[in-house]
Amino acid sequence: MDSFLYMALEQWQVELSQCVRSLDQLEQYIPLENKERLRAVIANMRLSITPHSLKLINFNDPSDPLMLICVPQEAELKFSPEELEDPIGDQLKSPIPFLTHRYPDRVLIYATFFCSLFCRFCFRKYKTGEANPGPRPDDITKIEQYLLEHPEVDEAILTGGDPLTLLDTQIEEWLRRLRAVPSINRIRIHTRVPVNLPSRITDNLIEIFKKYMNATHPIYIVTHFNHPREIAGENIEAIAKLVNAGVVIRNQHPLLKGVNDDAKVLAELYKKLVNIRVAPYYLHQLDQAKGIGHFRIPIEHGIELMRALQGTITGIAIPRYMLDQPNGQGKIQLTEPQKSAAEHP
Ligand code: SF4
Repeated sequence: MDSFLYMALEQWQVELSQCVRSLDQLEQYIPLENKERLRAVIANMRLSITPHSLKLINFNDPSDPLMLICVPQEAELKFSPEELEDPIGDQLKSPIPFLTHRYPDRVLIYATFFCSLFCRFCFRKYKTGEANPGPRPDDITKIEQYLLEHPEVDEAILTGGDPLTLLDTQIEEWLRRLRAVPSINRIRIHTRVPVNLPSRITDNLIEIFKKYMNATHPIYIVTHFNHPREIAGENIEAIAKLVNAGVVIRNQHPLLKGVNDDAKVLAELYKKLVNIRVAPYYLHQLDQAKGIGHFRIPIEHGIELMRALQGTITGIAIPRYMLDQPNGQGKIQLTEPQKSAAEHP
């Protein structure tokens, strides 16, 4: 892209335009011996690594956790019989396009299927890996209508893909329309932008958020840090801007083999998160999505990790360990109950 065009873009858009998106570009960072097979992998799910995440990866270590998160592997071509395209039944619970209504009081709205960085373990890779255009104006009108007809829904969750990769005008339009629905109290945004593209948290975006929240109508952001090394200076600044503006932030992430399946790594991650005012919310057992089996660890091991955390780190830093069941049946908690205060003075 030439410098004239750069001048018209914001910093985060320039960074988006500089993502590693091809194997030839990736090869400048790491030798690729199996390029033909990797072509098949990225045909199935796109490759995109942001400049910010590239900076944090240690390309000299073949088992670097941050590299495993975003560099495609041949293992993604292996499917086991129990793996599903739509592992948690989003489609089964979709009464209209781009909306899932699984629990009575909240809906998921797929605002876009684009992401700044395509995580190799994504459970929604059947959607996010495609060049799927997302909802058009008439789809958005139908979503609005659905919410008006379902006043039991008091929380709207913008998800995807990553909603914060949309333009400010598009984000503002979503917030404006959701706030116009009388039953909606909480707007929640699921995003990995504070992790992969922290420059996206601009002053203008903050002003937009402030406009659409008040003391009883909050905006929640549920973000997605997987490893303590993902919390770098720029990420801390982005989170601070959001929290200082009054946005409530939680973190959810999956348990990933080779990335965070270690009690010390999880303890460090959760302590760093609470220090930057992000509450650890859910640790997810990895869903049975196709081609991510190499990241999955047994539930029993996950329970052992949670036991190791309980009583070791402050209770405000411990998330709930959850399993999202297939066929849209919803989440169940896997964590055993916390030990009593007497056992852990
Ligand atoms: S940011 Fe979220 S939706 Fe996008 S690829 Fe990663 S896990 Fe999937």
